Amino acid sequence: MSDAGHFDFLIIGGGQAGIPLAYGLAKAGKRVGLVEEKNLGGSCINFGCTPTKAAIASARLAYQARKAGEYGLNIPSVEVDFAAVLKRAKDILMQSRTSLDHGFERVDNPALIRGHAALDGKAGKRFAVKVGAARVTADQVVLDTGTRTAIPATPGLKRVDNIDSENWLEKTDLPDRLIMVGAGYIGLEMGQFYKRMGSQVTVIEGSGQIIGHEDLDVASAIQGFLESDGVEFRMNTRVKNVRPSRDGVVVLVDGLAGQSEIEGSHIFLATGRKPNTDKLGLDKVGVKLNQGGIVEVDKRLSTNVPGIWAAGDIRGGPMFTHTSWDDYRILMSQILGDGSRTTDRIIPYGVFVDPELGRVGMTEKEARATGAEVKVSTFEMSKNGKANEIGEPRGFIKVVADAATGKILGAAVLSVEGAELVHMYVDIMTAGAPFTAIRDAIHIHPTLAEAVQSAVSSM
Ligand SMILES: Cc1cc2nc3c(=O)[nH]c(=O)nc-3n(C[C@H](O)[C@H](O)[C@H](O)COP(=O)(O)OP(=O)(O)OC[C@H]3O[C@@H](n4cnc5c(N)ncnc54)[C@H](O)[C@@H]3O)c2cc1C
Repeated sequence: MSDAGHFDFLIIGGGQAGIPLAYGLAKAGKRVGLVEEKNLGGSCINFGCTPTKAAIASARLAYQARKAGEYGLNIPSVEVDFAAVLKRAKDILMQSRTSLDHGFERVDNPALIRGHAALDGKAGKRFAVKVGAARVTADQVVLDTGTRTAIPATPGLKRVDNIDSENWLEKTDLPDRLIMVGAGYIGLEMGQFYKRMGSQVTVIEGSGQIIGHEDLDVASAIQGFLESDGVEFRMNTRVKNVRPSRDGVVVLVDGLAGQSEIEGSHIFLATGRKPNTDKLGLDKVGVKLNQGGIVEVDKRLSTNVPGIWAAGDIRGGPMFTHTSWDDYRILMSQILGDGSRTTDRIIPYGVFVDPELGRVGMTEKEARATGAEVKVSTFEMSKNGKANEIGEPRGFIKVVADAATGKILGAAVLSVEGAELVHMYVDIMTAGAPFTAIRDAIHIHPTLAEAVQSAVSSM
């Protein structure tokens, strides 16, 4: 085994935390190696956030073009070139991937090492890491290896050609009848995307509520929006088995009304993600995992082994690009700074269905469960001038605040541009200011931001 050198820090995984951390530590004078086995940018750039949001933009344009008549415009027909839609999404992701590749080509430190990395015990005080046929050593190691599609053990699944959140860009034939398994955020975003592209879409969900973590009023409204697009939902329904058919696939399901078969041309598995921690040699150094394979970390993102840190999706908690990126800031603070930045943080997220859901903090259900006295205020987007003027009056804003302090505990903005609008609440919460800070400000008329203010005005 060849010796590929020694690093102060070896980062395993070129994802959303790993890359900025590699540059940050190198800038501070540390000798840094970053190992990537596939493509720089990880899930977000290569098949997640970037291409899905690019594809969703095409779907939204098709949706708007189809309702052009409402705006007094005549667009006689909308034809979808599905392969071109996917190509556009791929071109956009390639710009980001290429820019990351070029960034590493231009510098010696951090050094990019291509290959699969696995810990291989200790060499004195240093950690030994195998990368393919080579071996490197490092004083400290950061794990940022992300997740992969979790394929359920459903009988027959391996006999059909599945679409999933990693391979969807390669499936350039538009599905005629798509069976979407799972109504989490990926299932909903992609389900609405395929429907607006022209597929018939049936979403199968084992529980009685889509995006189970959200309040029921929010989840029900989103289900209604997708149904108005023509997406069909089979709730409280479990997939028993799958078999190939002449036209595609037949899925046997068990629902409230007993067993039945659903026929489709294609099946999309949106059944969750699994941490890439099983082939990392963590047992060789004693890094603790929980039962789901998530790395156990403290608030500083340190594992139980001093000198080994974990960031991004594999460290448990919210799995988003912006949380992974914030992990880089936590690690910089812990490794080189005053250690004040930790995982005690306010985390927003978006569900990019149309209209979007922007969320931050607690749901109403969670806030009430704390036992604190809370105020809840909702505002319908149909009462907002701008929403009506642009023909987007669907949705509502819900804000939950602590009755005693007036501090916002959480907010749901279900509106066109909801994932943008929610940031006004995020910033107020981060500043520790009460809802009156938004209520007493002046917001421009006519804007959707007026609705953000209206939602707290009657609290
Ligand atoms: C379809 C989809 C849509 C999404 N949309 C959004 C969104 O809109 N907004 C959002 O915030 N989040 C979204 N996400 C989630 C987001 O992509 C992830 O939370 C984020 O990418 C996690 O970053 P990470 O740093 O943990 O890991 P990743 O970005 O997954 O990076 C991990 C990297 O490690 C590499 N690797 C793994 N094991 C090894 C090894 N042993 N050796 C070397 N390299 C290794 C992998 O190849 C990968 O490049 C989406 C995810 C999916 C699947």
